[in-house]
Amino acid sequence: MPELPEVETIAASLRRKAVGLEIAGIELYFPGLLRGDAAQLEKYRGKKITGVLRRGKMLLIACGEGLHLLFHLKMTGGFHWARKGTPRDAHTRLRIAFKNLDRDLLFRDVRKFGFLRCLETAFPLAGAELRPLGPEPLELDGRDFPSLLAGRKGRLKSLLLDQRFLAGIGNIYADEILFEARLHPLTVPSSLKVKETARLWAAVQNVLKKAIAAGGSSIRDYKDTDGMDGLFQNEHRVYGRKGRPCPRCGAKVRRLVIGGRSSFFCPRCQRPRGRRPSKGTSPSN
Ligand SMILES: [Zn+2]
Repeated sequence: MPELPEVETIAASLRRKAVGLEIAGIELYFPGLLRGDAAQLEKYRGKKITGVLRRGKMLLIACGEGLHLLFHLKMTGGFHWARKGTPRDAHTRLRIAFKNLDRDLLFRDVRKFGFLRCLETAFPLAGAELRPLGPEPLELDGRDFPSLLAGRKGRLKSLLLDQRFLAGIGNIYADEILFEARLHPLTVPSSLKVKETARLWAAVQNVLKKAIAAGGSSIRDYKDTDGMDGLFQNEHRVYGRKGRPCPRCGAKVRRLVIGGRSSFFCPRCQRPRGRRPSKGTSPSN
């Protein structure tokens, strides 16, 4: 699933290429993409894209007069530019055509979990989709981070995946962050010492910033809007590397299933400590 760095890469690309363009029409090929009434899309004809914002893993395209297109790319959603008249393929779910432009913006989604909502409000961030999200990790003041962890039970890995805790972190970056911070994924968040909390905060910042600088990670179907691969997958140190040597100490990377999600970690660099919840966890080799 595209996470914060991938969605930020897409948002930055759309900011450069789509802001200022006037929408000539929106064609919906897969009704399941739109959560709402297809007639709403008519309102966007003639509107100019005024801005593109990422919030968590979601993308908000502002079209003026309180009209917004809110996309969640989910597993495999993505945007692609295509020359006008290019026949759509089986995975193209939506096409946005622009006035005086020989290219259309296509939304493709192989797995079809992605969704679009048309928001008609001056305050889209206060709406039902975006309001529950936690702070943006790259905008939060580090001094406020320890208080976010206070009293948190459960497992650190699951907490990082919780979009109400911090917005935008998914399975890949949670594992990379925990590796960088040298923290076991099963650590109880409220048990973290001051030093460990500081390491975790630094790792959140470093890993996400590096991934954005590399244009995100290309696994499965993620591409930026030009169809270019991100490069950060070459820098994954534990994610998807079960049995391969830890780049720091050489121990074999292990995989655990936590809350139904794979977790990759180095058993030597990320030793378990504190109270470990025992339920819902199964080792996997
Ligand atoms: Zn190691």
